[in-house]
Amino acid sequence: MDQMDQMGRIASPGQRLGVVMLGKCNLEVRLFDIPSPGYGQVRMKVKASTLCGSDLNLIYRKESWKDGPGKYCGVVAGHEPCGVIDQLGDGCDGFEVGDRCIVYHISGCGVCQDCRMGWHISCTGTKRKAYGYQRDGGHSDYIIADIQNLVKMPSFLTFVDGAMVACGVGTAYAACLRAQVSGRDRVLITGLGPVGMCIALIARASGAEVYGIELSPERRQQASAHNITLIASDAEAAMKATDGKGFEVCFDASGNAQARHLCLEVARRWGRVVYVGEGGNVTFSPSPMLLHKQITLHGSWVCSMAQMEDLVELLARWQLHPEILVTHKYKLKDAATAYGLFNTGKTGKVAFIWD
Ligand SMILES: [Zn+2]
Ligand SMILES: [Zn+2]
Repeated sequence: MDQMDQMGRIASPGQRLGVVMLGKCNLEVRLFDIPSPGYGQVRMKVKASTLCGSDLNLIYRKESWKDGPGKYCGVVAGHEPCGVIDQLGDGCDGFEVGDRCIVYHISGCGVCQDCRMGWHISCTGTKRKAYGYQRDGGHSDYIIADIQNLVKMPSFLTFVDGAMVACGVGTAYAACLRAQVSGRDRVLITGLGPVGMCIALIARASGAEVYGIELSPERRQQASAHNITLIASDAEAAMKATDGKGFEVCFDASGNAQARHLCLEVARRWGRVVYVGEGGNVTFSPSPMLLHKQITLHGSWVCSMAQMEDLVELLARWQLHPEILVTHKYKLKDAATAYGLFNTGKTGKVAFIWD
């Protein structure tokens, strides 16, 4: 079927659609020329591109772009792309046309210490570029990606699964690794948006007993549908659920100050707490909350390339499709509707899909 922008203009051969963020909850679907890959790059036909809460905060709602990793340069948005390699540039040994790949959403300089460890997200070089922020992202029919950012997918995973892995599921997996979640743990997650739900699914697949706290009725309903045990958002309820002992592991995926505080309050002695939710603040008394309980507190930001490669293998082994958390799917031309709905905070994951 012909691709069409929101003005009804048809993409001619050699053209692609792409979503550009205008700020103040506005966006535009525009026509662009289909680009060619450079050295060490491939062109991919995008098959799924998911919407992320960080895009809402940083580029959909904002009217001006700040500096730093969230700086938006007016490029095609979308940092969770997944698709099929359509054309190879020079120097792409190991990849072939037709390969199904996830694009890890940051292209690092490749030579700083974090990049050498596969942590492109934490790249400290000046060449670091995020897809959808400083270089064209996945809300488009085609994307140019560096092979250093590609993760090949096992056949078990769908394209929507892959798009979710590109950011949110990878983030959830790294957080679980940081806390070394296992079948010996009772786990509490505060905030059951897409990342919180991914943590829940991975923690459960790792053998843990999983509990969650969420205030939005729609998200509570979704969590229940996936058999997450919900508890009230107070310390008393949390302690009661654990025979008064507290949780071995607590994750905050909300960024909310009270939720972050609660995680420390209800973590078991010698427990681990991981902060994953972005933004906001928190105040706590280190002696009683952290030191005297012997708590290990982690901050965790996305995942490494190697962790993402491990993750896709594990998802297949666990027979776990992250796509089960998607509640709405749209064509790219309906981007304004999709973002408007996702911005209500009442949905699960929202995805753009292609035939
Ligand atoms: Zn994301
Ligand atoms: Zn780097």
